[in-house]
Amino acid sequence: MTFKIAVLSGDGIGPEVVSEAVKVLKIVAHKYGISMSFQEGIIGGQALDIMGEPLPQQTLSLCKDSHAVLLGAVGGPKWDRLEFHKRPERGLLGIREQLGLYANLRPAKLFSPLADASPLKREIIEGLDILVVRELTGGIYYGKPKGIEPIPGGEKGFNTLVYTTTEIERIARLAFQLANRRRRKLTSVDKANILETSVLWRKVVTRVAEEFPEVSLNHILVDNCAMQLIRDPKQFDVLVMGNLFGDILSDEAAMLTGSIGLLPSASLGSEIGLYEPVHGSAPDIAGKDIANPLATILSAAMMLRYSFNKPEVADEIEGAINQILAEGYRTQDIYHKGTKLVGTRKMGDLVVQNIFL
Ligand code: NAD
Repeated sequence: MTFKIAVLSGDGIGPEVVSEAVKVLKIVAHKYGISMSFQEGIIGGQALDIMGEPLPQQTLSLCKDSHAVLLGAVGGPKWDRLEFHKRPERGLLGIREQLGLYANLRPAKLFSPLADASPLKREIIEGLDILVVRELTGGIYYGKPKGIEPIPGGEKGFNTLVYTTTEIERIARLAFQLANRRRRKLTSVDKANILETSVLWRKVVTRVAEEFPEVSLNHILVDNCAMQLIRDPKQFDVLVMGNLFGDILSDEAAMLTGSIGLLPSASLGSEIGLYEPVHGSAPDIAGKDIANPLATILSAAMMLRYSFNKPEVADEIEGAINQILAEGYRTQDIYHKGTKLVGTRKMGDLVVQNIFL
């Protein structure tokens, strides 16, 4: 079969980093005889300029007709003053919604040559490999009622935290499946000592655990989890949590490993997975061949792992990156004295060469 990939480069550094990831996908396709096709679509500011909307119907149709979407980043100062519904970021929200992507996967894996770039001591961080699974479409960000209302003497702001059993079951099941493919340890994060929603969350996750007897489950309160991620992050394998807790803890976990230029992500839910770097369009460095393409290349590796079921090929890409970093090659964001400074394209070339050797 041919894996159809929709390529949405977007704005700023998006096209630069995406083209390096496509280069790497093409080389592994060639090396392992995997058939892949690449179709480009427009999104974000680029789509606004050409079509007058951030997510044109053609782009959506292209994504729906693909097995996976590789996305760069959207946004930039040029479109900052537009009304909210016309902003490039609406394209991103729209695509997540339209593809039914309810789970966001954020790995925090340390490349050993970068251990000294971590804010934590080497012995705490060495060998770190955890995966944060965040519920993406429910919880307090979407619950109703919400708003700001006048009250005697001032105003009242309010939001609603709501999760249904169906929403909890599907994210829990996915997290168990992911843990089953790793070290078989799932930690569910909640605030069950205070929040009713969390009491339900814990009950449903515990029930879903019966379907996965080979995975060990433990529950942890979110405040304790925030501390444990700094004290002893290697105790975790897969962590699953709701939208708000996931928003915060996925950033905390990611920062354990160093630079924003190295953080990949995947959003799953329907048959089609969306893969994108965590960083934005970095307009300050766009077009200068200095952006770090590794976050996007690692997102492409996640595509191979989760959408195409080729974990050994994903491992090879991650291994090649580790090797290049061990040889001292660095883009500007992770450069320090004594290492070898390379640009975006050169970093992509090094990954390709390492895989081809
Ligand atoms: P940003 O992530 O684009 O940049 C933050 C800082 O990190 C900048 O100094 C940038 O140069 C640096 N940086 C980011 N990616 C890098 C890389 N690959 N290599 C080296 N350095 C890198 O965040 P921002 O500046 O807050 O936002 C810029 C634009 O991106 C805004 O329009 C914002 O709305 C948009 N944005 C988009 C996404 C997305 O598309 N998923 C996410 C965040 C921000």
